[in-house]
Amino acid sequence: MAISATNMQLLKIMESVWNVVCRGLASVVTALMGVTGVVAATVVAWNRTASVDEPAVPLSVNYHFTRQCNYSCGFCFHTAKTSFVLPLDEAKRGLTMLAEAGMKKLNFSGGEPFVRDGGRFMGELIKYCKTELRWAGISISIVSNGSLIQEKWMRQYGEHVDMLAVSCDSFNADTNRMIGRQQGARTDHVAKLYQVREWCGQHKIAFKINTVVNTYNVNELFAEHIDRLRPVRWKVFQCLLLEGENAGEGALRNAARFYVTDEEFNGFLRRHAEVQMLVPENNNAMRDSYLILDEYMRFLNCRNGKKEPSASLLDVGVQHALRGSGFDEQAFLERGGVYLWSKQQMSKAELEW
Ligand code: SF4
Repeated sequence: MAISATNMQLLKIMESVWNVVCRGLASVVTALMGVTGVVAATVVAWNRTASVDEPAVPLSVNYHFTRQCNYSCGFCFHTAKTSFVLPLDEAKRGLTMLAEAGMKKLNFSGGEPFVRDGGRFMGELIKYCKTELRWAGISISIVSNGSLIQEKWMRQYGEHVDMLAVSCDSFNADTNRMIGRQQGARTDHVAKLYQVREWCGQHKIAFKINTVVNTYNVNELFAEHIDRLRPVRWKVFQCLLLEGENAGEGALRNAARFYVTDEEFNGFLRRHAEVQMLVPENNNAMRDSYLILDEYMRFLNCRNGKKEPSASLLDVGVQHALRGSGFDEQAFLERGGVYLWSKQQMSKAELEW
């Protein structure tokens, strides 16, 4: 997310208020979501009054440092078009530039981030952010399919990770197979999900689940497993079509058969209305509300329904690259992009299992 520098101070104040609210009302998520809306609306209002000459602040960045993945989900919208990964030192240089520009949350994603060196590449970058860039106070999250995570990695790098999200679209092995959420016939995605959940509890990492609602799981009931797994957030996305990724000419996937209408998506949400940690995100909320950095450290502009890259921030600097990001700050705030993302501010009960 890019936010003006003047508003950073105000954001910090709002973050403190938000933390107090989160602690006090942890069991009343519906109420929390209402407060998020107030926070968001207030920050937006501040930003409208900011000077256009002020530098933008990339508050929350999603770094898709690899497009490679060991799964083959039919709706994937960040497909393996290249196998390029930056040299470690170049990636560190880019992260330093982002930290200097005000980044406060960094999410590692892919592809599958544990494909590269079993997670060592990412682990070293995470450690770098939490030690060399400690002054920047960056919270770290990861989105993974979970299949390649090893306990050794958790022991080595877990202390530096604030939140780990594992993708799970079904608790039924046949459905996962039909979606493509597997590597080989013997993958047990659900068993690994539970294993990773246990490790997160042991290593005090906030656990999150991401689900993409599609034609294969739209009628499935998740509540029992979600209740057992106790994620701090259950993010539920509507399957999204992006030209050049999972739709249209030149795309590596054709996700049309996975697509669900707004009505079907809302039906899924209604059937899970009692699940307090559910955070819904339909196609409208998703579009343009993420600051996406690709494997070359180029921001990806999704304004035209496809991913159009900016120049690399390594070549032109953060401010210049941000101008081509297509990022919509208001959409980011309205979808609740600012939330409790540092494990230091979470309760023991939220981190343990
Ligand atoms: S696990 Fe994620 S990155 Fe891999 S194919 Fe599935 S959606 Fe794409």
